[in-house]
Amino acid sequence: KLLKNIDLRLYVRRYNCFNVQLFINNEFVDAKSGKKFPTYNPATGKLIVEVAEGDKADVDLAVAAAKQAFHRNSEWRKLSPLQRTDLILKLCSLIERDRDVLASLETQDNGKPYAEADFDVEAAIMTFKYYAGWTDKFVGDTIPAGDIIAQTLKEPVGVVGQIIPWNYPLLMLTWKWAPALAVGCTIVMKPAEQTPLTALHMAALAKEAGFPAGVINVITGYGPTAGAAISEHHDIQKVVFTGSVEIGRIIMEAAAHSNLKRVTLELGGKSPVVVFEDADVDVAAGIAHEALFSNHGQSCCAGSRTYVHEKIYDQFVAKATALAKARKVGNPFDETVKQGPQIDEEMMNKVLGYIESGKQQGAKLQCGGKRIGNVGYFIEPTIFSDVNDKMKIAQEEVRLEYNKFAKFSLNSFFTHRFWPRTINLQIQFFGRDH
Ligand code: ADP
Repeated sequence: KLLKNIDLRLYVRRYNCFNVQLFINNEFVDAKSGKKFPTYNPATGKLIVEVAEGDKADVDLAVAAAKQAFHRNSEWRKLSPLQRTDLILKLCSLIERDRDVLASLETQDNGKPYAEADFDVEAAIMTFKYYAGWTDKFVGDTIPAGDIIAQTLKEPVGVVGQIIPWNYPLLMLTWKWAPALAVGCTIVMKPAEQTPLTALHMAALAKEAGFPAGVINVITGYGPTAGAAISEHHDIQKVVFTGSVEIGRIIMEAAAHSNLKRVTLELGGKSPVVVFEDADVDVAAGIAHEALFSNHGQSCCAGSRTYVHEKIYDQFVAKATALAKARKVGNPFDETVKQGPQIDEEMMNKVLGYIESGKQQGAKLQCGGKRIGNVGYFIEPTIFSDVNDKMKIAQEEVRLEYNKFAKFSLNSFFTHRFWPRTINLQIQFFGRDH
């Protein structure tokens, strides 16, 4: 049995392989270019494994397979809704069987504590079960229209392109796959380049569950190459994306410029928490603490600003600071640890830069503010008080930004005040003047 602190050799012993290739038409294959890219463990900074780097040529193959699988007389299209339910439930039981594998891979690739990764697996199972029940419940209307018969018929749109980020790799995949499979679409997914491993394991499980070839395809690779090829593709009928506002705009534009494919974007927020004077300070501070620090602050809805009524301000700051100081940061496989590393070195440096700017602009550092050790990308849970809305830390999202050529650009960040998007770390703001 695979242990919590996953050892890839144990994985290989269980499965006779480690899936690091692209998944196209139910086969694991190398990228056409032969290229690979590294994925690192953010808790150690060490390479986990190299993964195939797909780009346009591979996306073309995947889309062709997905299109073929969606053909009117294909095996997939001929399945009844309840047969799709059965397949999704079979996938659920395989996820349940491999719960420890998925949680371990996720913790290793993303850095989140094992208990949180395990909860993500649980949530994935619940989500697939939920959508398994929807296969036969999308119904059309009959419309009174005089002596003509008017009715609507709901049909799957076809090939769906799916592009996801690194903060909840397995859950993001689930939220995209489950509804698309329930209604009978076929899928070309690109996981985030920082966290490709659970998606590849899920691809293997989808094959084992019996999804016909081409229904699910996974292309690991970078955004401006593989991701762009998806959003620009003429044979993709819909693109769904979770990530930054900036890339969301690019995707919407690409969809419009290509075939006017449907677009669904899930972007982010620099979400404020507001605490009124009649709140129970202990309860409110506990909620605000979890709102920010869960998943290392790396959630689109992380409560990265907290506005507190001045009557309870000092009391609240003291309580919130105590909670942040008590939060244990470290090895995500240690059961007592609540917080692992940030996703990568780039992000760690970005957060440290924002902390520096908070200090320089006159916010009061209540606790934290420093990197922990020099192995992995850990940062102390950090709280600023006496922040005003003009300060950079109150206005800007803490996030990574791409340059055009697939590597991260250093020291550039998102500067639009009212564009909310939070992959936001460790900084909690308290503004007296609100
Ligand atoms: P985050 O801030 O969460 O890293 P991004 O929006 O930068 O969010 O990335 C989310 C996903 O979008 C990742 O899978 C990334 O590879 C992909 N992506 C990045 N740039 C592009 C692009 N130009 N076109 C399509 N997808 C992209």
